[in-house]
Amino acid sequence: MKRVFLKKGREKSLLLRHPWVFSGAIENIQDSIDDGELVGIFDSKKNFLAKGHYSSKSQIALRVFDWDADSLPEDAMIVERLKRAFQFRAKYIDTSLTNCFRICNSEGDFLPGLIVDKYSDTLVIQINSAGMDRVRNIILESLNTLFSPKCVYERGDSDTRLKEGLKKIKGVSLGNYLDRVNVSENSIKFLVDIENGQKTGFFLDQRENRFELTHFSKGASILNCFSYTGGFSLYALKYGADDVLNVDTSPNALDLAKEISDINDIPSGKQNFLEADVFEFLRECKKSGKQFDIVILDPPKFVKNQLELKKGIRGYKDINMLAMQLVRKGGFLFTFSCSGHVDKELFCKIATWSAMDAKRDIRVIKWLGLPLDHPFLASLYESEYLKGLILQVL
Ligand code: SAH
Repeated sequence: MKRVFLKKGREKSLLLRHPWVFSGAIENIQDSIDDGELVGIFDSKKNFLAKGHYSSKSQIALRVFDWDADSLPEDAMIVERLKRAFQFRAKYIDTSLTNCFRICNSEGDFLPGLIVDKYSDTLVIQINSAGMDRVRNIILESLNTLFSPKCVYERGDSDTRLKEGLKKIKGVSLGNYLDRVNVSENSIKFLVDIENGQKTGFFLDQRENRFELTHFSKGASILNCFSYTGGFSLYALKYGADDVLNVDTSPNALDLAKEISDINDIPSGKQNFLEADVFEFLRECKKSGKQFDIVILDPPKFVKNQLELKKGIRGYKDINMLAMQLVRKGGFLFTFSCSGHVDKELFCKIATWSAMDAKRDIRVIKWLGLPLDHPFLASLYESEYLKGLILQVL
């Protein structure tokens, strides 16, 4: 195995089990190494630290694959880790109620750069590192052997692959993809557009948070902002909400939300769908004095990099302020951020600033976050991108 040596003192983060080495930490590289190759990582005194995948293009030059010098070969490790990742979900998710969930969450499942989502018999993969791209065939073979899926669909069409010097890729890798997939999440039926839907088709990361809403739903009038295909709304309606208004800019998402409402036998009139910009809609509601018992705010990522932080904070503050003004006294705001750059402390501050400007008092009822099928390493806490608050607005 080829070797990479780090600069003096640059082994510290690896010793703390942070699994990334940035390009600036590398002193020298033994031989010419191919992108994605598994290499030994050593400190400046030639002590072994870990084995990792190398990328000459990414700022993250090395992603740790193994902390152990004498482990199984790479392909055997991939099969073993995928198997373990699935067994963990199968043990803790009631698969008789839920047949869509994340099987593999990158570093959180010790397969850096690999995402595998299960939608019934269809698997959707994202291969986001040079290392995983190099072993693509092993991944596909393993998935086929372990799950015998009807289809494996690759959604490598986000910008993430570009940062690794990889081309975007989208399409069927195994089997056939016919049409949208029928899935069940906590016994609620959903239709997932794997080909053209957002992310891998559905926001699997919100499953547990959608369930939290059920505790507050009975008799409530709800505004679901950034509704996508109506995930939160369906949970609320199944648990006794009076009515829900879904607002999203995507006509495709709203069309699918209507179909999903029908297959769940939601009486017409219980749900409305509005194609509109949430910022504008909230302002209009403020003007007309419209109020709701619960408002949900689950916006797209406002902060994609550090440069966008200030603008993003302003965006979060504005919608939270507007939303708080629409909540009836004693009602609730379910508010989220999926920007990794906005940490929990900052998100709490944003909520405080919003309440100040809305001239409302708030208290935190509960912190919300990632579900158990999206584990992350404590040493890589920056990968905890999703955070949410249930706020009572007084
Ligand atoms: N809560 C959803 C996921 C929301 S994802 C769920 O549980 O499935 C964010 C959504 O915001 C996307 O559907 C996107 O189309 C929508 N969106 C993005 N910008 C918007 C805007 N300015 N106004 C309204 N919707 C917007």
